[in-house]
Amino acid sequence: MERLGCALTLAVGVRAVPSAADGYVVSISKVDAAVRERLVPILEAAFGGPAERPLIHHLPQRLLLALDGALPHPVESLELAPLSTMRLLAEKTMPQSILLSASFEFAASHRLHSPSLSEAENRAQYGRCNNACGHGHNYRIEVTVEHATDGPSRLPDLERAVQASVISRFDHQNLDALPEFAGKVTSVENIAGTAFGMLASALGTAGIRLRRLTIWETDRTSATVEAAN
Ligand SMILES: [Zn+2]
Repeated sequence: MERLGCALTLAVGVRAVPSAADGYVVSISKVDAAVRERLVPILEAAFGGPAERPLIHHLPQRLLLALDGALPHPVESLELAPLSTMRLLAEKTMPQSILLSASFEFAASHRLHSPSLSEAENRAQYGRCNNACGHGHNYRIEVTVEHATDGPSRLPDLERAVQASVISRFDHQNLDALPEFAGKVTSVENIAGTAFGMLASALGTAGIRLRRLTIWETDRTSATVEAAN
């Protein structure tokens, strides 16, 4: 075998007012042609050829620059997903850095119940989620950090950081019994807020800035916490 295959996902972000003539911001066929003409050769060199192997965190900004002038409107962002659990986002407004996102899972149980409401009010507010026996979720967590393109060549080890600070605390636990949630309802909003604080301080000691954290309780329900500036 000469090479391993890999499936990359690319997303190109363009912002403009839709054309009055065709209703498009930009025709997808033009995006497709620009990606094939300008980006595929760079990706083939990066992943397939022996000559040039740029660092993975240099690629999104390089690809973004390569699209300059290729479309009727400026390309503002480019996202490269080398794995289904990892995304690298380059934005025109932050040429010296990328946003690295990685996602993980944990399983936990909880019960939605507020000590400041009566039993009847709790049942009315939370319905079946207030059942005394509790229930479980397979939570998904996505964390996003900023990484300087001229920073360390190794991307931050988010798996280790998230495992040590959040998953080792929450996985296969009754969240309501954890001191982190003492006096708090274990809503997905509060879980995200608590996890953000735990991970931000763990990453902060390594000089890594947590930009965003999202927790999905189900495929349809999630909460996101963004860093304040
Ligand atoms: Zn629940």
